[in-house]
Amino acid sequence: MSPANPAIAPFDGRSVCLFCGSSDAADPVYVQAAADFGAAAARAGWRLVYGGGGVGLMGASARAAHEAGGRVLGVMPEFLRSRERLFDEVETLVVTSMHERKQIMYDQSDAFVVAPGGIGTLEEVVELLSWKRLDLHGKPVIFLNINGFWETFFGLMRHSVETGFTPPSFLDAWLVCDTVEAAMMAIDAPETRRALQHDRR
Ligand code: AMP
Repeated sequence: MSPANPAIAPFDGRSVCLFCGSSDAADPVYVQAAADFGAAAARAGWRLVYGGGGVGLMGASARAAHEAGGRVLGVMPEFLRSRERLFDEVETLVVTSMHERKQIMYDQSDAFVVAPGGIGTLEEVVELLSWKRLDLHGKPVIFLNINGFWETFFGLMRHSVETGFTPPSFLDAWLVCDTVEAAMMAIDAPETRRALQHDRR
């Protein structure tokens, strides 16, 4: 259950935040995976929390979740409304800054799935993982590693471990799933539920 925010309609189920690319030029394989994830999350009763845009993988996931009858919460900074084409068929909170957007997305979500994306997606997941490194949260982070998209990022993290900047145990801070089905099983797995209970203490 998410903390109450008077600007957001109450929701007492579980919420998954999807970080993903906003580019319309992305390979359709990635766009389809984002749509499949949105629909699967909706069918499983999860609310989808996302960046609020109608473009790229973001738009595909939100539209699919909405069409599958799921709850969707978009969080969009005012200055990006037109650039990211706010998707107004679902509940969307318009905020003033990128920082506010991310804070609300984090607060409103019980688990995070990271689909392929660009520098914005990378920034979001790196902050999420750096907060985990500092024990600021224990929420599950699952990479949707379609066609091995995230392998070079994992390589960089292994390099950081090998050079002594990051403890080896940190490589367990996230899960890697190659398919939407595996990601859906991972967010419903008992370990994930335990991590959520731990985070709510
Ligand atoms: P991209 O992966 O570059 O297509 O960006 C995906 C999403 O991340 C877009 O909605 C961007 O607006 C968003 N984004 C980029 N940088 C930030 C940031 N610093 N804080 C919050 N969202 C961001």
